[in-house]
Amino acid sequence: MTEHWYPAYVGLGSNLQGPARQLEIAFELLARIPGTRLIRKSSLYRSSPFGGVEQPDFVNAAAALMTRLLAAELLLELQRIENECGRERGDIQWGPRVLDLDLLVYSNQKIDEQGLTVPHPGIGERNFVLLPLAEVAPGLNIPGLGQIEKLDINFSEPAISRIG
Ligand code: ADP
Ligand code: MG
Repeated sequence: MTEHWYPAYVGLGSNLQGPARQLEIAFELLARIPGTRLIRKSSLYRSSPFGGVEQPDFVNAAAALMTRLLAAELLLELQRIENECGRERGDIQWGPRVLDLDLLVYSNQKIDEQGLTVPHPGIGERNFVLLPLAEVAPGLNIPGLGQIEKLDINFSEPAISRIG
């Protein structure tokens, strides 16, 4: 925990056990992280799965936080929430999951450590990350990538639609 407050952006995803409800619960749990405020919640977006695994559609969203936690401390809180919501570690990559919480952007930092890469890799190519993130953080300058509105939104794959 630091004395300063930093902006941090979290990507939420679920495709099991009532995905929209899972994300509502996740927003409530994000708001209760110590030293952290939930500033904005995006709409929910439905997207087709990514990575070639046959599975239900995903519901995705993004949250804007202000936090006094360091990035690594915040990631631990996100993983605790994933676990509380029934996320099974060892789930296959890009496979079905009750809740996926990714630390997309943390302040203006670039981090490349074992178990923590920020900005989150793949952020620039994934509509289901970019659309909700742009909604909670218009004009966001993503370290190493630039202004979010200038990134290429890929309108072909995967299909995505706003659901509320
Ligand atoms: P994905 O989110 O790519 O589908 P997982 O959620 O299964 O995959 O990946 C979790 C792993 O990714 C964790 O072991 C975590 O340490 C690592 N990781 C690295 N950078 C980040 C980040 N910015 N946010 C969340 N997890 C991250
Ligand atoms: Mg993840």
